[in-house]
Amino acid sequence: MSLKFSHETLGQRVLFGTKQASQYLIAEIMRLEAQNVMVIASNSGLFSAQEIAADIDVKVWHSNVKMHVPMETAIEARAIAVDNDIDVIVSVGGGSAVGLAKAIALTTSIPIIAIPTTYAGSEATNVWGITESARKTTGVDNKVVPTTVIYDSSLTMSLPVEMSVASGLNGMAHCIDSLWAPHADPINALMAAEGIRALSAGLPKIVADPQDISGRDEVLYGAYFAAVSFASAGSGLHHKICHVLGGTFNLPHAQTHATVLPYVLAFNAPFAPDAEQRTAAAFGTDTALEGLQKLRAQVGAPQRLSDYGFTEEGIPEAVSIILEKLPAHNPREITEENLTALLVAALNGNDPATLN
Ligand code: NAD
Repeated sequence: MSLKFSHETLGQRVLFGTKQASQYLIAEIMRLEAQNVMVIASNSGLFSAQEIAADIDVKVWHSNVKMHVPMETAIEARAIAVDNDIDVIVSVGGGSAVGLAKAIALTTSIPIIAIPTTYAGSEATNVWGITESARKTTGVDNKVVPTTVIYDSSLTMSLPVEMSVASGLNGMAHCIDSLWAPHADPINALMAAEGIRALSAGLPKIVADPQDISGRDEVLYGAYFAAVSFASAGSGLHHKICHVLGGTFNLPHAQTHATVLPYVLAFNAPFAPDAEQRTAAAFGTDTALEGLQKLRAQVGAPQRLSDYGFTEEGIPEAVSIILEKLPAHNPREITEENLTALLVAALNGNDPATLN
């Protein structure tokens, strides 16, 4: 079979180094000749942000950060940025902090320096998301791609083990979903495989010793590859499901991804032999599901959506919204019936292997 594909690589400067965030930030602020800097950090990230930004002039500190970027928080932050002539936004935090920075960049084109403190990966994508009236709208726009990402794994040390596991598996979901997403191509697949390898090597180290910098480094590195493969491949079935569960039912992002992933893998893998083989090879196991489930058991992964407030009553509404937002193509035909079965299994934490 001949190869035919198109691939877009996003332009971004990536700086990686433990305990280098402050130095990297000073250099980037100078390089961008920024005069009016706005730092976005949630309350829990404010202390780290103040340490990192200790040697730069910050015009605005902004901490009204909420998961899934409610529209009112975007409107407020945009007005603050414009009123203060902000010329660079620095986000310190997880996907929620960079999500708010992206919401500002979407309407103002102000460049972002993203300093992630989770493994969500939003810092390396051109995807934005805003939630209004219980509907999360996502879009793709290169204006929101952070100009620079500063990866400093020492900033993820304080992320509790449970959240680290969920967030790392959110990264894993980017990798696996990118293998069958609408713009899947061999370049994404290469990066996804490296992401799967690094995340599955690093997560058990974090669980064994949360202060082990090598585990943190590996997972942060894997999270970057995960995000880049996802950004290029686009949203597959897994992301479509999780965005609805997050936006409409306000389920926590990372835990939702971590819970739903084995069900989408079990659902799609028999119909996607290349993705199955590549994933299994990256895990070093006979099958992709075996590799994922082995890792999930090792790290004590989230088990069921009912633990996060989702209920059986929500399934028909979730199914009908997901069916409206399906990816352009998916290896397996998706019907109301099989999607309902998938969500019921994820709700109750049933064995994903029973989906087929
Ligand atoms: P988050 O940013 O909301 O962080 C989760 C919690 O952990 C918060 O309470 C936060 O304050 C805390 N936290 C973050 N870093 C910490 C640290 N180092 N130590 C201690 N506590 C810390 O959650 P998230 O999972 O990183 O991001 C979720 C959001 O990002 C969702 O809205 C999701 O849609 C979005 N997202 C977007 C993309 C994209 O490409 N656009 C990709 C992934 C996630």
